Amino acid sequence: MKIPFLDLKAAYLELKEELDAALSRVMNSGSFILGTEGEAFEREFAAYCGVRHCIGVGNGMDALTLVLKAWGIGPGDEVIVPANTFIATWLAVSHTGASVVAVDPDERTYNMNPEKVEAAVTKRTKAIIPVHLYGQPADMKPINAIARKYRIKVLEDAAQAHGALYEGKRTGGLGDAAGFSFYPGKNLGAFGDAGAITTNDDCLAQRLRALRNYGSHVKYVHEIIGYNSRLDEMQAALLRVRLKHLDAWNARRIELARIYCRELADTALVLPYVPAWAQPVWHLFVVRCKSRDSLQRKLAEKGIAALIHYPIPPHLQHAYNSILPPNDSACSEKLADELLSLPIGPHLREDEVYAVISAIRQILTHN
Ligand SMILES: *Cc1c(COP(=O)(O)O)cnc(C)c1O
Repeated sequence: MKIPFLDLKAAYLELKEELDAALSRVMNSGSFILGTEGEAFEREFAAYCGVRHCIGVGNGMDALTLVLKAWGIGPGDEVIVPANTFIATWLAVSHTGASVVAVDPDERTYNMNPEKVEAAVTKRTKAIIPVHLYGQPADMKPINAIARKYRIKVLEDAAQAHGALYEGKRTGGLGDAAGFSFYPGKNLGAFGDAGAITTNDDCLAQRLRALRNYGSHVKYVHEIIGYNSRLDEMQAALLRVRLKHLDAWNARRIELARIYCRELADTALVLPYVPAWAQPVWHLFVVRCKSRDSLQRKLAEKGIAALIHYPIPPHLQHAYNSILPPNDSACSEKLADELLSLPIGPHLREDEVYAVISAIRQILTHN
């Protein structure tokens, strides 16, 4: 039995007719950038997230970068980010010229630890970027309270958490703004690069619409030094099809995660911890194991693909070796050595999940 980590082809085939029709509609419309599909997707995704505005952009990293730029963040400023995240969260800050200030995660949730966030605030801090990592919402209430106290902004990195709930509220509307990625492997994935920003701030939304489009609201009139980062019509049309199925696909992930949790509860693995206020959407199902490398290798020998998110924390990457590591990075470094992501996705069958479970049990008992 071969069990892939994620099956993107199956994700296409399930909705093939609808997706093909959407694509052909765009091809025949003769409109490919900033047209009716993009506008419709922005409306629909804003409604899904329960916010007033959605601004489609080229990818998830641009979504984060453009918000920071729109807030005027740049050289001399500091932005607080998690030490445990995909590096794009950090890169977005670095591209504004601001300094990355990393905080070590909560050891149970692997997400931002609000106590460490407050300790990291300085006079130069302009924003906090909590990441809803692995599809688990970050603890937003204390983070928002810290932001209010010090008058700084909160930008959710929701790239892995489309549809996740924090105290019953969807991600994307939990801070001052949010960045989403629709990279093909995300819970809501496009067929290429795509991203979006959500916010309830009218002024920010208006500024972002110019910033993503050469700094222009009116063609050939340029108010600010903008970028070219737009969500194109084909990706928007395809995303509109998939958005209608997002809740059902997330529900399948939730069901598979439930099986993993139930069937692996009595093993030596540390299973994901879900706080009472969180309803995760399981972008990844991440376990912790002291003998992680050997477990991954033995699963691979049985045809099961398990991956590591992420093997090298950003502060240990060559790209960041000239900046100081977070003053305590012990937890993020330990996680990088012990975390393992098991296969999960809307197209993983239950019998495949049981096969992963029995392979893990076999490997762990013979260790
Ligand atoms: C995927 C991802 C991004 C970047 O999104 P792209 O669309 O690939 O640019 C940012 N942050 C996190 C946490 C991600 O997982």
